[in-house]
Amino acid sequence: MVIRFFFILFFCLLPAPFFAADFNLSKVFVWDGITSQPYLASLHIQGDSIKKIVKETSSPVSKGKFEGMYVIPGLINAHVHLLNTAACRAGYGFTPWTALENLTALHQSGFTTVADMGAWPVLLGKIRVWADQNPQKSSRVVFAGPVMTIAKGYPDNWMPAVSRMVGAIALVDAQNAKQVVHQTKQSGASHIKVALQEKSFGGNPIPMMDEETLFTLIDAAHGEGLPLFSHALTIQGYEAGIKMGVDAFIHSPLEELTPQLIDQLATKQIPIIPTVWIWKSPWAVPEEEKAHLRFYQSFVTNKIAKQRENYLKDYFTTEDFPSYLMEETGVSKIAAKKNYEAQKRNLERLRGKNAFFVFGTDAPYCFDMAGDSYKEMLELKKIGFTNEQILLMATLHAAFMLKLPLLGSLAPGQKADMVILNGNPLEDLSVLRDPVAVVRDGEISYGKNKITWNEKVKSILFFAQAAIETIGERLSVKVFEKGLDARRATEAD
Ligand SMILES: [Zn+2]
Repeated sequence: MVIRFFFILFFCLLPAPFFAADFNLSKVFVWDGITSQPYLASLHIQGDSIKKIVKETSSPVSKGKFEGMYVIPGLINAHVHLLNTAACRAGYGFTPWTALENLTALHQSGFTTVADMGAWPVLLGKIRVWADQNPQKSSRVVFAGPVMTIAKGYPDNWMPAVSRMVGAIALVDAQNAKQVVHQTKQSGASHIKVALQEKSFGGNPIPMMDEETLFTLIDAAHGEGLPLFSHALTIQGYEAGIKMGVDAFIHSPLEELTPQLIDQLATKQIPIIPTVWIWKSPWAVPEEEKAHLRFYQSFVTNKIAKQRENYLKDYFTTEDFPSYLMEETGVSKIAAKKNYEAQKRNLERLRGKNAFFVFGTDAPYCFDMAGDSYKEMLELKKIGFTNEQILLMATLHAAFMLKLPLLGSLAPGQKADMVILNGNPLEDLSVLRDPVAVVRDGEISYGKNKITWNEKVKSILFFAQAAIETIGERLSVKVFEKGLDARRATEAD
C-alpha cells in the first residue's frame, strides 16, 4: 500500500506530455464571433493555433467527421469560483479536488477559458499548471487572487475563517493597497477584484471601502498592468465604482438604478456581467425541481444532494432561507424575489441603451453548478437577450474584458479554442447544452472526462505545496499581515 502510494506520487510529479496534433475541420459552418452569420468553411489547425480558414462553396456531403456541423469560438465564463462547491454554505461538500472537477465540468460544457473572481492565488497557480498540461479535459484558468475589501466589509462579514485567510484581504490604507496589489500580481493573478457593498444580504449596514483607498487600488492595479473588476450589487457600490473608474462590474445591480447611472454605464461601455441565475437558484429551485433533478444529481456529491433534498422539504414552510443555506440569518425569500425583479428591469433598461455585457455565472454556488452555465443563458433569454448577444457575451466580449485578445474569435493566428455543435446556436441555443466536441489549444476532446485517482493525489499535493509557500511568503513579505491586524483590531471591539 505504501509502495503503491509512492508510485502514484512519483508519476504525479512527472509533467504530463502534451503535443497537439495538426488537424482539419472540413466543410463546417463557422460562426467566428466577428461576422453575424455562420459561413461554410474548412479550418486548418496547427499546434495550438488556427492556421487558415478557407471558405467553401460546395455544400457538405456529411462524409467527414464533423462535416455540416457548427463551429464557434471556445466559450469564456468571466466569473467563476473554482474552489466553491454547488452547496449553499461556503466549504460544504468541499474536497481537495473540487477545483479540478469544476474545471472538467466547465470544459465539457464548452467553456475553454474561465476567470476565477476571488480565491487563494498560490493554490490557483498550481491548479493552472495542471490545467495547462491537460487542455483536453480542463478549461484555461485566469484568476484574481483574494477579494480586496476592508475589515468587516463584504465578504469579510460572512466568509468562514479558513476562506478569509487566503480568499479575501482587508486593506488598511492606501499604502497597504499598493503592497497587496503588487503581491497579488507576483502570485500570478491577471486581474484584481474589489468588493463594494455597504449592506449585508439581510440589509444590515457593513463598512465599504472609502473612495481614496479604492482610487489607489485601481491606480496600483493599472500600474501593474492589471484590470480591476468590482463586485457591486447596490446603487452605492455602483456609484463608487463608476466614479473611481473600475474596469468592469461582475454582477448586475439588485437595486433599481437611476436613469443617470444607466446612462453612464451605457455611454462609458463599462462591461457588466449580469449573473441572474446565481441569485435566483436558491428560491427558484422548487419550480425547477422536476426538470432539473437528474441533471443536478449527476454533478454533485451525495452530501450536497442531501442538503438540497432537506431544503426542498423545508421550502414551503419557511419564509427565510434556512440557516444551513445562508451564513446570515433573516434573509427572506420574498426579498430575494424583489431583488430579481429589480435586476431584471435594470438589465432590460441597460440592454435598451446598448450597454456592454459579458457572460459569467459566479458558479458554483447554492444549486448553481459549474458545468451548467446553460441555465444562465436561459435566464438571459427570458430577459430579452438574443442568441447572438449571448454568444457574443461569452466570446468576443469576455475576451475583451479579460484582455485575452487571442481568444473569443476564430481567425488565422487565434488560439485553436472551439466548440463543435450539432446545430446552429444562433437559431437554437440548446445545442450548447451538449457539445459534440471541445477544442482547447488545438487539443480535441469528446464526451465526459473524470478526475483520476492520480489527479486526486496531485490535488492534495497542490494544497500542501501552496500552504508551505504561503507561510514562507507571509514570513518574508508580511504584506497580508497588516490586513489581518486590522481585522483582529475590529474583532476585539
Ligand atoms: Zn463571485
